[in-house]
Amino acid sequence: MSDDQLAEYRSKRDLDRSPEPSGEHAPRGGPIFVVQKHHARNEHYDFRLEVGGVLKSWAVPKGPSTDPSEKRLAIRVEDHPLEYATFEGVIPGGEYGAGAVIVWDTGTYRNATRRDGQDVPLEQALADGHVVVELCGHKLRGGYALTRTDVDERGRERWLLVKMRDAKADAGRDPLASEPESVLSGRTVEQVAGEASV
Ligand code: MN
Repeated sequence: MSDDQLAEYRSKRDLDRSPEPSGEHAPRGGPIFVVQKHHARNEHYDFRLEVGGVLKSWAVPKGPSTDPSEKRLAIRVEDHPLEYATFEGVIPGGEYGAGAVIVWDTGTYRNATRRDGQDVPLEQALADGHVVVELCGHKLRGGYALTRTDVDERGRERWLLVKMRDAKADAGRDPLASEPESVLSGRTVEQVAGEASV
């Protein structure tokens, strides 16, 4: 829903004082994104975008930033099923990706990729190696750019995940540290790991 459509709604309310929703974070029925925190051998975050019925996925060793000057390495990994977006639990020892997983953030997103003044469909943007999405999550909001840089020695695509300079950019915020819990269960990845070993 565009801001214009809610202009009257907002003009009638002081949403700093009223607990009513601003409509800024409402699910728009759009495709979803999810960021999972994965307590594997090397702790990392998995950034996933719903595209064409699957979750296009990147492993982000340092996790996403809200600071536009931070470029975060994002290694493209295999597509995951849509149902993975709500997965929290522990992948058993010896299995691929062994370790605890939580849903660190999730919400909807909008494809905002443009080239030469034209909208670029997401499949095309992925193939081109440059994707801009506008996230509407609990922790992450606003534009993020994903740009492919090269291929590593194991044949995996390396991309950079960077916060766009917009109203949601905030170099002083570090939600990885200040908001470590799952947005689904309120648990930390350490709690999930600990529950499994009891
Ligand atoms: Mn992972």
